[in-house]
Amino acid sequence: MKFGGTSVQDAAAISRTIEIVNGRRNQKMRPVVVVSAMARVTDQLLAAARAAVENDLPKALLIAGVLRNRHIENAAVLVGRKLTLLIQTLDKLFDQLENVLTGIAAVGELTPRTSDLVVSFGERLSSLIVAQALEHRGISSVHVDARNCIITDTHFGKATPLVEETDAAVIEHVLSVVDANAVAVLGGFIASTRNGITTTLGRGGSDYSAALIGGALNAHAIEIWTDVNGVMTTDPRICPNALRLRAISFEEASELAYFGAKVLHPATILPAVKKNIPVWVLNSHNAANEGTVITATATTSSSPLKSIAVKRHLIILQIISRRLLVSHRFLRAVFEVFDRYDCSVNMVATSEISLSVTLDAVEHLEAIREDLAKIAIVEEEEDKSLICLVGEKMREQPGIAARAFSAIRGTNLQMISQGANGISMSFIVNDAVVEQTVRSLHAEFFSDPDPILFDVSAQSPAQEAILLPA
Ligand code: ADP
Ligand code: ASP
Ligand code: MG
Repeated sequence: MKFGGTSVQDAAAISRTIEIVNGRRNQKMRPVVVVSAMARVTDQLLAAARAAVENDLPKALLIAGVLRNRHIENAAVLVGRKLTLLIQTLDKLFDQLENVLTGIAAVGELTPRTSDLVVSFGERLSSLIVAQALEHRGISSVHVDARNCIITDTHFGKATPLVEETDAAVIEHVLSVVDANAVAVLGGFIASTRNGITTTLGRGGSDYSAALIGGALNAHAIEIWTDVNGVMTTDPRICPNALRLRAISFEEASELAYFGAKVLHPATILPAVKKNIPVWVLNSHNAANEGTVITATATTSSSPLKSIAVKRHLIILQIISRRLLVSHRFLRAVFEVFDRYDCSVNMVATSEISLSVTLDAVEHLEAIREDLAKIAIVEEEEDKSLICLVGEKMREQPGIAARAFSAIRGTNLQMISQGANGISMSFIVNDAVVEQTVRSLHAEFFSDPDPILFDVSAQSPAQEAILLPA
């Protein structure tokens, strides 16, 4: 059971989370719990690190101080007689954090390795609090440091798990707790190298942690508890009338996650697919809701589309060959540049002498452009969004593209691409029009939803509440 930031954002949310865990125990299940940092904490830790490296140590320490108060205040509501001990542990962690921030300011350098150490405090703190809160509620629990369980390479900022080592470590550290009928509580997102250096799995990586742990333990199910009713027909923040999907296939869910649906970290599906473990997406603010199940095969339905994903703030690079290389060598040379900077490309379109690619805002953009300039003329466009239509039926039903394009005629589309696996179609629009474009597409494809596949009942009050502007 993985609980995201909003599911542990304060004492009230943590109490709800605990009741959900207890519910599973009452059903004779033996849950393992993975938690994110409390909502917004990772961003704030990154802001503190940035302030420190910009030589604004007072600001960095101020952020740390606010976080210290927030964690301790919430812990105080959740924990009884063990509170003094817990506060001592939390204080020790905050002292360490402040030392790291002071160190960053002193050397004036923030490496990806140090950044991972700074953000790791978020999940370390939240998991300690949740473990103690479970104990206080009378549920036997053990805090397990996820850094002893998820073992990765040294790619700081977005490390890749070493699956065999991770499986063995999870069995060693987590299974014994499960066997003792206690709830193991781990922080998501954080991991470590073989040498014990802290790493992270990339933003949103707690989902991935849960899937790795569920995979290693051969779990009966992996549950991703979040702040929406499940996987929806599009991001409900863009389209308030988005509908919950009852089920979606692994392949469709990976495509959605890869192309921007934040509800799942893109790598989450993999460990589950390998072992055929169903993944559920559920709402911790509305636990009675059935959620969405992600399984090997897709539900048969008349609907050609399942969902629309959006990825914003992309850059398009148009790379025009100087004709120094024949076409296939040109492609290889271009991709070698991206590989050198570990930069993944979202979408590609080619012609004989030119290649357009979309990238997320990347760290090494300047260097990439300089390297490309040796073999090509490079033009750049910013503020682009990728819209991706996903559904297994797209493979066999003709006319989907025609329907999509006529629903948004008048919108300037760039780089149209039919996904290689035949279950998705993507295109690029300007950031400024993306919301309107998604709403038009949603109206076209989901105004007459098939009740077998979509939850067509009125949206729950919890769902509506989160749609109100913050
Ligand atoms: P957590 O903190 O629980 O990991 P996230 O913010 O990472 O939660 O992911 C949940 C959010 O994903 C939702 O609040 C919603 O705005 C967004 N989202 C984007 N696309 C979808 C989709 N297709 N279905 C559901 N949620 C989506
Ligand atoms: N706390 C991390 C983040 O905000 C990981 C997660 O929540 O999944 O990216
Ligand atoms: Mg998330």
